[in-house]
Amino acid sequence: EEWKEKGAAVSTRQDVDANGRPISRIIKKGVKDFNFGRTLGEGSYSTVLAATDRQTLREYAIKVLDKRHIIKEKKVKYVNIERDTLNRLTDHPGIVRLYYTFQDERSLYFVLDLASGGELLGVLKKMATFDEECTRFYGAQILDSIAYMHSRGVIHRDLKPENVLLDDQMHVKITDFGTAKILGLRPPQRDGVEDTAAAGDPMDGAGSDRAVSFVGTAEYVSPELLTDKNACKASDLWAFGCIVYQLLAGRPPFKAGNEYQTFQKIVALDYSFPDSFPEVAKDLVGRLLVLDPAKRLPIEQIRGHPFFEGIQWGKGLWKQKAPRLK
Ligand code: ATP
Repeated sequence: EEWKEKGAAVSTRQDVDANGRPISRIIKKGVKDFNFGRTLGEGSYSTVLAATDRQTLREYAIKVLDKRHIIKEKKVKYVNIERDTLNRLTDHPGIVRLYYTFQDERSLYFVLDLASGGELLGVLKKMATFDEECTRFYGAQILDSIAYMHSRGVIHRDLKPENVLLDDQMHVKITDFGTAKILGLRPPQRDGVEDTAAAGDPMDGAGSDRAVSFVGTAEYVSPELLTDKNACKASDLWAFGCIVYQLLAGRPPFKAGNEYQTFQKIVALDYSFPDSFPEVAKDLVGRLLVLDPAKRLPIEQIRGHPFFEGIQWGKGLWKQKAPRLK
């Protein structure tokens, strides 16, 4: 298996060629350059540790992946998708940034932004629900991040409150790009696997490798993935609608005893709002949870929706102080 590495290109004063021109040197970081600290979390084939760069004392989260395990479980493709998408998305505050990758005999290492505030899901569970102001702020940061990834040709395909991390300022950092789709890079492979597989298509046959990757959360899957096995940019906006609903209601809109029943609810658009749900948010969610992806509210119009009135879009949104949770 081939694992590519990534280093940061830097030049220093001493680095000059025979003609006095500066030379750019690739500084490769490795395990030895970091002090590893506490465990931040465990994935099914990874462990994420807090770590400090010995030179700069900057803190990171390092995702450590066991090579043998990844190969055995046939996850090489997903690891590569995660690295490739993160390498396309290095220029936005709302996306966990990948700084370096390296490896040793046993493991692969992804050096990432540290999101010390944990998962949005955990914060929501503590609060039970968010008020309108908090939902507006977190919704806006999530939407701004989606707009950026879409502009870079990336569909996330697995947006949910567990994949929305928070940094030390309680600002959004979206993660988990292992099932993302990169648009317009190369044509789909012969069997089309490249195009539809990574989201872990639930209709893809139980027990297959792809079905296995679809674990835990059926609740945010778009109807078009269930009926046409195809995700598009608007599929992320369906998930966004589910997230906005969940922040205000405390539970996702489509939830049932098992995945199959959840899927049935999704394709039947079978959901309702709790009494306390603000009218203006009902209107927004109602325009996102639309079965036909072509009829879902596009990002530009979501930004202009009355629910987001008062939000300063763009850079200012990331300079703002997060509202106190209540
Ligand atoms: P799975 O692989 O089973 O889908 P996962 O995607 O959550 O799980 P990881 O990406 O390895 O797996 O993350 C494991 C845990 O570490 C998660 O619970 C997440 O909250 C935490 N974590 C991941 N990335 C970061 C980060 N950059 N900063 C802080 N915590 C993180």
